[in-house]
Order: sequence, then C-alpha cells, then structure tokens
Amino acid sequence: MENYDVIVIGQGYAGLTAAGLAVDRGLRTATFEARCMGGLILNINELNPVPEGASHSGSELSSDLLMSNMDKGVVSVSEEVSGVERREDGLWLVKTQGEIYAAPNVIVASGARLRKLGIPGSRSACALGIRQQGNDRDARGHPTGTCRAT
Ligand SMILES: Cc1cc2nc3c(=O)[nH]c(=O)nc-3n(C[C@H](O)[C@H](O)[C@H](O)COP(=O)(O)OP(=O)(O)OC[C@H]3O[C@@H](n4cnc5c(N)ncnc54)[C@H](O)[C@@H]3O)c2cc1C
Repeated sequence: MENYDVIVIGQGYAGLTAAGLAVDRGLRTATFEARCMGGLILNINELNPVPEGASHSGSELSSDLLMSNMDKGVVSVSEEVSGVERREDGLWLVKTQGEIYAAPNVIVASGARLRKLGIPGSRSACALGIRQQGNDRDARGHPTGTCRAT
C-alpha cells in the first residue's frame, strides 16, 4: 500500500491546482485521473477569464500545471478511483481497480460531466455550439444543467 500526505482525485483544473498548492507546502502528493488529464478545460481554446500569467488555451494551461506539479514531485496516477473508505484510525484508503493507496487527506476534485440536451433538435443545436453543461439535479432529482453557447 502506497502512502501519501495528500491524495487528489481528478486532474482537472481544480485537482491540478490543489495538488500544486499541497506540494508547495511540503506535502507528499498524488493525483489520480480516470480519463484525460486536464478535464473539462482541455477542449477550451480561449479561456475567459485567463488565470493571471497563464496560457489562454485550456490544453496548454492544464499541461503547464501538470508539468509544473511533476517537476515539484507530485505523483500522477492514471487510474480511476473506485472507492474511498475511512479507517478507524482516521486514515483514508483510496481504491483503484488493482491497488489501495492511503493518505490522511483526500481532496475530491472529480468535477462534472457534460450531459446531452435530450430534446428534439439537440443534435443540430450541438453542431451550432449549443450544448448542455453540468450535471446538477434539483431536490426532486430533475436535471437543472444550463445551456451554454460556445
Ligand atoms: C464548453 C465549456 C467552456 C468553458 N469555458 C470556461 C471559461 O472560459 N472559463 C472558465 O473559467 N471556465 C470555463 N468552463 C468551466 C470549466 O471548464 C470548469 O469549471 C472546470 O474545468 C472544472 O474543473 P474541475 O477540475 O473542477 O473539473 P473537471 O475539469 O471536470 O475535472 C475533473 C477530473 O476528474 C476526473 N475524475 C472524475 N472521477 C474520477 C475518479 N473516480 N477517479 C479518477 N479521476 C476522476 C475526470 O476524468 C476529470 O478529468 C467551461 C466549461 C465548458 C464545458
């Protein structure tokens, strides 16, 4: 079982930023990513706003963050986290398909998933750059994601 001070689930903008802040404080940090490093910002060509001193492109921004984290010693694990459990002594066990990792601190930065509009004409609307964003639900479980024109 591998041990870290901080485990971050998700290598989107939030996870990469959190991992950078943790390692800057001298904490042994690992990030886990199930799909593509960068998450949602990967597909954004022109960020608005642009974080101070950063690249305008989402893919460049995320790869800059990842490289900087790796230079500082953040361990990048390309595995999906399938479960998180707290042991009696307070340590968190983070499970992937083949391994268990442990840390006293876990940051969940697993983001959101884009959902299809699911209404007539949504396919052609998508081609025009109109798509549904987010995966929120109201108290009755109905989708409340917003439409976004890109
Ligand atoms: C079309 C579009 C344009 C946008 N434009 C802008 C903009 O211009 N400016 C702006 O500020 N914001 C913009 N946003 C919003 C911005 O992209 C998001 O707010 C931001 O990327 C969210 O980052 P995140 O790290 O929280 O989540 P995500 O980017 O969703 O990252 C989460 C990561 O966690 C991973 N993950 C999830 N579950 C697991 C698991 N079990 N194990 C391992 N990994 C896991 C996912 O694969 C993903 O890579 C835009 C969004 C969209 C869709």
